[in-house]
Amino acid sequence: MSARRLLPYIWTWPLDVLLWLLWILPFWAFWGTNLRWEEGSLAFTFKEDSWPMRTWYKKWGGTSIGHALMYAPKVKPNADGTPHRITVHEQFHVKQYESITLGAFIWAWVPFTFLAANGLWTSAFVCGILMWLSATLQHGVGNWTTAWIRGERAYRDSYHEQSAYAVDFKYTATGKRDT
Ligand SMILES: [Zn+2]
Repeated sequence: MSARRLLPYIWTWPLDVLLWLLWILPFWAFWGTNLRWEEGSLAFTFKEDSWPMRTWYKKWGGTSIGHALMYAPKVKPNADGTPHRITVHEQFHVKQYESITLGAFIWAWVPFTFLAANGLWTSAFVCGILMWLSATLQHGVGNWTTAWIRGERAYRDSYHEQSAYAVDFKYTATGKRDT
């Protein structure tokens, strides 16, 4: 992994730190194992017999929000050392997150500048930071809603999710990773 791959932390770090402290580290401490850096993201795997794997997470393979990833125990590298399909899928979501967060970071300067120019510094900071850190949510609202309006499944058929499936399907079919 090149150092350039870590440059997006310049505009994603506040949300990442929050996700690590509120989600990854406590979940790993309660139910997880193998806390690690996976291509620049903090990741852990649920223990086989942990409560989430016996209940609400048993049908899931992996989840990512920001540079924070959690996996079911079945997600292990392939015998030849190449990553599991679900790892490729989640790492593609990391790329999406880095892109949409940079967009939100840039746009957040518009209300910030306008409000600050009018002396409304508190509003400027609150509005700017909220706009910046809600990038995933803002993106998701349009993305899930349009899938729902088309009469499809809001999450699974959103283009955000379909692109990740397309990438991991191609990887499974060719064994070549080009993400
Ligand atoms: Zn996905």
